[in-house]
Amino acid sequence: MPPTATQHDSALKFERHPIRTDVVIVGAGPCGLFQVFELGLLGLKAHVVDSLPVPGGQCVELYPDKPIYDIPAVPVCTGQELTDRLLEQIRPFGAGMHLGQEVTEVQRREDGRFRVVTSAATVFDAGAVVIAGGVGSFQSRRLSVPGAAELEGKYIHYRVKDPRAYADQDVVILGGGDSALDWTLALVEHARSVVLVHRRPEFRGAPASVARLYALREAQRADVLIGNVKEVTAVGGVLKSISVQGGDGVVRRLETDQVLAFFGLHPKLGPIAEWGLEIDKRQLGVDTQKFQTSVPGIYAVGDINTYPGKKKLILSGFHEAALAAFSIKEFLDPGKKVPLQYTTTSPLMHKRLGVTEEIEIGRKAVGS
Ligand code: FAD
Repeated sequence: MPPTATQHDSALKFERHPIRTDVVIVGAGPCGLFQVFELGLLGLKAHVVDSLPVPGGQCVELYPDKPIYDIPAVPVCTGQELTDRLLEQIRPFGAGMHLGQEVTEVQRREDGRFRVVTSAATVFDAGAVVIAGGVGSFQSRRLSVPGAAELEGKYIHYRVKDPRAYADQDVVILGGGDSALDWTLALVEHARSVVLVHRRPEFRGAPASVARLYALREAQRADVLIGNVKEVTAVGGVLKSISVQGGDGVVRRLETDQVLAFFGLHPKLGPIAEWGLEIDKRQLGVDTQKFQTSVPGIYAVGDINTYPGKKKLILSGFHEAALAAFSIKEFLDPGKKVPLQYTTTSPLMHKRLGVTEEIEIGRKAVGS
């Protein structure tokens, strides 16, 4: 899609003044977030970019309410709780968060630093790059019927930016999970009519939302249709209707102004594959001392990397982030030894963490 005038202006602004930073981290999953912490302890400033609108990666996108039992010293926490704790832990380091934008380009500059560009035209001038891209950037599953692709963005959408945009419109929502249910319940307050179309009578979303949906149907404020979308009909580039085939084989035509499709997300390695890095089965090969990729200055931690014995576990990614941080510090400051300091006792670590003497004294007083 060509950039809008505003995006173009902001692109020019960032080109003239790219954000200069020590490190850009691609991916705000648990490993990308913990990378901020490990870099921060060594005095390095990071900016994090994620294509999702919220941090947390797979933990938040795929299992926010499910318990995780193998985070050291945390007997149990959900995917969302782990993310919230990581965000709290990295707060002292004030990392820049750039969400809802994909990193599209990583190029080495003539001075040896890196030019990193996002889909929102944000440009960074970074000393090093850490790719914590997990299984890739999550993309919405598309409605794959003839004619749908041409209507994307104007009449067929995969995300709601502003519910008020649907005021006085006939809206068809596709899907059976929480997003489809939540937006059906929300848009009833704005749209002229809302019909939820799902391929089977069972919904994957929260039972309370399903109950509310059927209550709205009972009150004739929303409708539910079970079946598969067969085609979309547009006249002169304007969406007119969609056709849905039910389990009885009958194809019903629904007149509509807008279609919102929520078929879930699927990960795509996407632009990472184009940055000239060695890739083995959709993963980036790294060494186990520095976690550096085939390009010096570009590192990879978490699910995206591979090495002999690799286990795709959060705790493995945390260890990788710690070693990568030491290596990055040496890469940015060649020839200087990076001493290991304990957070328990090092005044420098306390300063970087923003731990004041009063807090320390308070902790001692309560015996913690
Ligand atoms: P991810 O969590 O995948 O995050 C990567 C992020 O990078 C994503 O948000 C993505 O949008 C972003 N990204 C990718 N490419 C780009 C780009 N070009 N630009 C911008 N952003 C990009 N592990 C455990 O240790 N214990 C468990 O109990 C456990 N349970 C699990 C249960 C389920 C159901 C699943 C699916 C996984 C589970 N895992 C568990 C695995 C764990 O979630 C992963 O190991 C972990 O999420 C990897 O973290 P990450 O930061 O490397 O990547």
